[in-house]
Amino acid sequence: MKNQITTIAFDADDTLWENEQYFREAELNFAKLFPHLAASEVVKALFDIEMKNLKIYGYGIKGFMLCMIETASLLSNEKIDHQLIYHIFDIGHKLLQKPIVLLDGIEATLLHLHGKYRLVMATKGDLLDQERKLEKSGLAKYFHHIEVMSDKQPRHYQKLIKHLDCKPENFLMIGNSRRSDIVPVLALNAFAIEVPYHTTWVHELHEEPIEHPNFVSVTSIDQIIPLL
Ligand SMILES: [Mg+2]
Repeated sequence: MKNQITTIAFDADDTLWENEQYFREAELNFAKLFPHLAASEVVKALFDIEMKNLKIYGYGIKGFMLCMIETASLLSNEKIDHQLIYHIFDIGHKLLQKPIVLLDGIEATLLHLHGKYRLVMATKGDLLDQERKLEKSGLAKYFHHIEVMSDKQPRHYQKLIKHLDCKPENFLMIGNSRRSDIVPVLALNAFAIEVPYHTTWVHELHEEPIEHPNFVSVTSIDQIIPLL
């Protein structure tokens, strides 16, 4: 791997910094707005609405807020009151102002790789929100290029790799989600390293084992240093 790679792309949410647990917290706060229903029932209804709208809203907090409103309307038999809407906006606005907490070892790893490889950040989500997080993180200085992607299918990676004047055999993706960061990258015969995070959104789960010569799984980010 070491001799072939020229460009390393990092996923952002739950690879560079904490993210998923904020969404899980937000879902539970949303569920509390419906005390007559089981939290699991509310969370499931919200997830179904998110899946229905994913193609038109894409990923990110603004789409999540619209999905909460739609779910609330559904759960209140379309008799949603403005107090409920106010609480939903509050949940969303709090998500948009969460502090950026870097994951252990991430800055030391970027410092080690910087200058040796061309480093890229490749993430899904809302453009403005991801820019905010990157700026607050203090990590922008390590990255040659930032790509906020509408989705992470093989064709989106193909476009990114082409844009970087790179080839799949010289490209390595590092991320926490098998579905978004690993499987589509291996489909192009590029390299992929998985660094799992303790919480994964149901939508990002990928249960099947992965067997590919270009795939490595590590338990913490600093374990990639001896590999590169
Ligand atoms: Mg991620």
